[in-house]
Amino acid sequence: MVTLRSCVLLLSVIGSQIQGHSIPHNKELIHSDYSKDGVIRCFHDNSQTISTDHIIKKLSHCGHHRVEIWNNNDQFIDIQMSIKKFNKIDKISKKLGMNCNVMIENLNTVIQDTLPQNKRDNEILMQMLMDYPIRTDDEMFNMETNRGIHTKLTEYFFQEYRDLQSLQIWFNVLQQWFPNILTLKSIGKTSQGNDLNVLEINVNNVEKNPKGKTIVITGGTHSREWISISTVCYIMFSLLNDYDMGINGEDNILNSLNFIFAPTLNPDGYEYTWVEDRLWRKNRQDTGNLDCPGFDLDRTFGYHWQATNEFPCSGNYNGDMPFAAMESSLWDTYIQENFKRHHDHRLYGFIDFHSYSQEILYPFTYSCDELPNDIENLLELAFDLSKTIRKFSGKQYDVVQSCKDRDADINPTGGSGSMLDYMYDKGAHWSYQIKLRDTGNHGFLLPPSYIHPVGREGTRIVQAMCDFLLNPPNWN
Ligand SMILES: [Zn+2]
Repeated sequence: MVTLRSCVLLLSVIGSQIQGHSIPHNKELIHSDYSKDGVIRCFHDNSQTISTDHIIKKLSHCGHHRVEIWNNNDQFIDIQMSIKKFNKIDKISKKLGMNCNVMIENLNTVIQDTLPQNKRDNEILMQMLMDYPIRTDDEMFNMETNRGIHTKLTEYFFQEYRDLQSLQIWFNVLQQWFPNILTLKSIGKTSQGNDLNVLEINVNNVEKNPKGKTIVITGGTHSREWISISTVCYIMFSLLNDYDMGINGEDNILNSLNFIFAPTLNPDGYEYTWVEDRLWRKNRQDTGNLDCPGFDLDRTFGYHWQATNEFPCSGNYNGDMPFAAMESSLWDTYIQENFKRHHDHRLYGFIDFHSYSQEILYPFTYSCDELPNDIENLLELAFDLSKTIRKFSGKQYDVVQSCKDRDADINPTGGSGSMLDYMYDKGAHWSYQIKLRDTGNHGFLLPPSYIHPVGREGTRIVQAMCDFLLNPPNWN
């Protein structure tokens, strides 16, 4: 058992180490070499829409073998490719019939900036978290002291991205800090033997939440989008801590809504991004092709799932049947069991956090011709959230129909099998996918200094969504 004095001492040691940047990069992380890659942005000519497939084909024809699309919207497309070709950027522009410029010159440098600066700090912090889990009988440890230390430890926790093992420790610690309202569950094992974890928050206020209305919040579906994982963890701690501190008293949102958090929906992929390939997107499951494992989880859900012409080596591979990915299949079982008809829990809202591009996406993904029956409600809340963020942090988040994000307006199978559509269909009628910061300067590779500000932004989004749902504006 650590004492208060040793705890404070350790915190100050960590603090001074974190502030001093004399320690070299972590040498144990071996990553795919992206030193020859960068990212360019090419702007669409407004008079014509070009499909992602078409662009990849054109670039592949002129010898750009490793071409990957990072983001595509109605204004521009971001393309990862060899930097050797960057001195021929005018030629590329001409070939594609688009104006192109360089966004990221050297991917390796930007990748390095996302990794922890010092492995020892992480070890000390994790040891402290494990040693200091609960309220003790020691009279030095009163409630206030505990809260203060929890907050301090959490502040350090969010100064770096944390690997899967550290997150698992943190989940266990949270359960010990908030034993009466938080339940950590594994809903099954993935193909690599990792737990697929959910954290359920339920304060059991039957008076204020008689129907057990539940908001589900997920992150990490695409493993390279680390900011989505840290943000979901950040939101979860903020809600728990606010409730524990008595913020808003009876009006605290946890009295009126239950929550389910799944910060790491793709644990195998996430683990892989830490040890092998920082830019890995899919899970790590066998596809039948030994060289190309992995399904894109967000295309494997069984609502309007369709076969596509993608091969296992594609970053968008969706399998040859719905729920081919173990994670989506386990999730389906969990949702069905948890929200059976007449059960005392009711699926109500859903946010699936991704990155990047600062967008609020609403259903449907599978088709741009179909709109949800309650589209007006969905749009009203989406624009409300966008305005809230603008007021809070000055950042612009655009409201976009999810199908457009997938080219589904020009490629009929492109929007197949999304988690957003699936959750909407299962009854979460307030469903969004939110793509967090930034707008492309770092893309999927936000430095750790973004964890706190984006975490605060995410928390504000969830609070605003709950306020809107609990106090609907002028509905008759
Ligand atoms: Zn994503």
